[in-house]
Amino acid sequence: MATIFISDLHLDDGRPHITALFERLLASDEVRSADAVYILGDLVDAWIGDDDDAALPARIAQATRSLSEADVPVYFMAGNRDFLLGSAYAARAGLTLLEDGTVHALYGRPTLLMHGDVLCTDDVAYQAVRQQVRQPQWQAQILAMPLPARRAFAAKAREDSRAHTGTTGEAIMDVNQQAVATTMREAGVTRLIHGHTHRPAIHHFDLDGRAAERIVLGDWYEHGSVLRVTPEGSELAGLSAG
Ligand code: MN
Repeated sequence: MATIFISDLHLDDGRPHITALFERLLASDEVRSADAVYILGDLVDAWIGDDDDAALPARIAQATRSLSEADVPVYFMAGNRDFLLGSAYAARAGLTLLEDGTVHALYGRPTLLMHGDVLCTDDVAYQAVRQQVRQPQWQAQILAMPLPARRAFAAKAREDSRAHTGTTGEAIMDVNQQAVATTMREAGVTRLIHGHTHRPAIHHFDLDGRAAERIVLGDWYEHGSVLRVTPEGSELAGLSAG
């Protein structure tokens, strides 16, 4: 019995070995017999719309669809790179879309699931951008652009993001502990799982006198990172690209 969590794979044509690693993981006996798989955002480095005719989205859909057809639920929550992923692609890829901040009971324990970016409240500049790009009107405007224009737009957004992370302090780009406590309190949970910060760890802390934990998934830039949650506990592990 295990539930598998991954996030921040940032799949991209520039790292084909990482895409292959993702495909191997999803096809593995362990994942094929898992209770569920959760992808908590930034599955791809950039998502320009469900109508993207490139090879990578089709490859990903094949891997996730095959898993869902093997009766393993595959949940997807958008990150800041793939928030334009919608219901058309989800249907094609066998994904069940989740809202950021969904609570699921894992073996009876309510667990808050997030991408993690909304918890980085100290990064005021980022939060302003997030608010803009999550507006349906803004998204509709982008999606109305021809595919090549959207590709160019996504490339520019990635450049801007790199420039921002290059000049913003590490502490500012991490989650704010106050925001974590407030969000967990409101959700009524003592366990939170998220990605985004690329700082894999299991943090234990006290939340209103109760033992709480915040599990942070790792990114897949160099190698894979997988969280296994079982009725007994949680284990974060690396995955060699081989
Ligand atoms: Mn992210």
